[in-house]
Amino acid sequence: MADTPRRSIAFIGSECYPFVKTGGLGDVMYALPKALVAQNCDVRVLVPKYACIPQKYKDLMVYRGSFDMDLCSDGKRYFVGIMEYVWDGVVYDFIENEEFFGWGKPYTDLVVDIPKYCFFCKAALSALLYMNWIPDIVHCHDWQAGLVPVYMRTLLNGTALGKSRAIFTIHNLRFQGIHSKEHIQYWTGLPDEVFGLPYIGQSNGNANMLKGGITFADLVTTVSNTYAQEIQTGFYGENLDAHLRYHAYKLGGIVNGIDTNQWNPATDKHLAVNYDASNVHENKKKDKLALQERLGLNQDEGKFVIGLVSRLTNQKGLDLVNSIIPQVMDEHTQIVVLGTGDAEYENSFRYYENAYKGNMASCIMYDESLAHSIYAGCDAFLVPSLFEPCGLTQLTAMRYGTVPIVRETGGLKDTVAPYNEFTNEGNGFTFDHYSAWLLLDAINRAKTVYFTEPERWKQMVDRDMAKDVSWDLSAQIYKDMYLSLTQW
Ligand code: ADP
Repeated sequence: MADTPRRSIAFIGSECYPFVKTGGLGDVMYALPKALVAQNCDVRVLVPKYACIPQKYKDLMVYRGSFDMDLCSDGKRYFVGIMEYVWDGVVYDFIENEEFFGWGKPYTDLVVDIPKYCFFCKAALSALLYMNWIPDIVHCHDWQAGLVPVYMRTLLNGTALGKSRAIFTIHNLRFQGIHSKEHIQYWTGLPDEVFGLPYIGQSNGNANMLKGGITFADLVTTVSNTYAQEIQTGFYGENLDAHLRYHAYKLGGIVNGIDTNQWNPATDKHLAVNYDASNVHENKKKDKLALQERLGLNQDEGKFVIGLVSRLTNQKGLDLVNSIIPQVMDEHTQIVVLGTGDAEYENSFRYYENAYKGNMASCIMYDESLAHSIYAGCDAFLVPSLFEPCGLTQLTAMRYGTVPIVRETGGLKDTVAPYNEFTNEGNGFTFDHYSAWLLLDAINRAKTVYFTEPERWKQMVDRDMAKDVSWDLSAQIYKDMYLSLTQW
């Protein structure tokens, strides 16, 4: 336990592994609180109690209380229930309301989701007040929790939470929670002034929930240093670059880690054969053969197997991947894709699976267990994103001794040092401009080292497995940030 002073933090966000996860946010909401407990922090995580949370977790929750809360501008009131589960030193409070969370998946469309998360922001803060648990820091995440700092500094400013500090973390600037001013004002009951251009309003008359988080938080962070810089430019700024430049004095980047217990090839129950740094080179081959067998690929430990585990959206650089698959496929190479998302990518990967039967597998599904087998069974791992706030998959790949091939953007740039053939250093193969030919070149450079300099490849695998991708360092940086904001 770190010997810095104790601080209390409420984490507020829309997903948290293992209860509900659609992407990296869910991983962070799980792993960072756990790492903060080791930094002498008291952490409560507040997430919606979605219908899709597995029953085995619902069975573990205990009733913590309930109350009625006013929400809308016409005074409409809503039930708020709090169901609690304490696990590994972290308290999880699930916010319950049948109308908003009692059906369907976490995210539907903005018409449905905007009211849902307006409710959630106010309900989470009201739950803290109800429980009389007033944290030093309220740390909220992404647009779904963007109104938390807005409420703290407006309608709830006169409550005990008015003294708590607010931190807003941007995990992905692309999603902002934008709707008409009238709609958001109705659902939030927030006063007119808040909808001005410097606060949560936009010049086209809409209101933007993520912008509210940026405006009203005491500090804004994002999940890598490079992304913190990139989002202040027109290309990456998603129309908020000017607003972010204005607030640059309170904006910084802290890179994500991964939970190294959850992701540990030495103990991972999903793997055919476990391994650590001492036996990775022999055992990883067995995981490759098991993966090939599971996916119906030609079994051959000598093939160069490239993995990709991703949401299938244009953020992830899949246009580049799609346009070079025919050039990548040869008798020595296999590709394994796991993901769901936009139909155009799902269908093109299905097409390629059929075109390269036995050497290409496209698993169009969400499958946690298969993801583990892919991280272990592949030689290289693709993350050629158009933009990537941090990216967790390249960290997980390195933890499993799988060499990342990434575009130099956001957290990919901050976490994967490019291979230097002169000094024999680096963790992976990288390229800079968003170009299919540069991606192909990076894959070919990787293949060349794999087939012609196997000793050097092994050394890179060893370096990747030895790299610290845990939360330890970043959790310390978060703790320092909390302390700097709370010098009471
Ligand atoms: P993002 O948050 O943009 O989706 P990240 O790299 O930060 O991307 O996190 C993605 C997380 O989701 C990783 O833990 C990855 O293993 C997991 N993941 C993505 N797609 C799938 C899938 N189809 N099946 C299983 N896990 C997946």
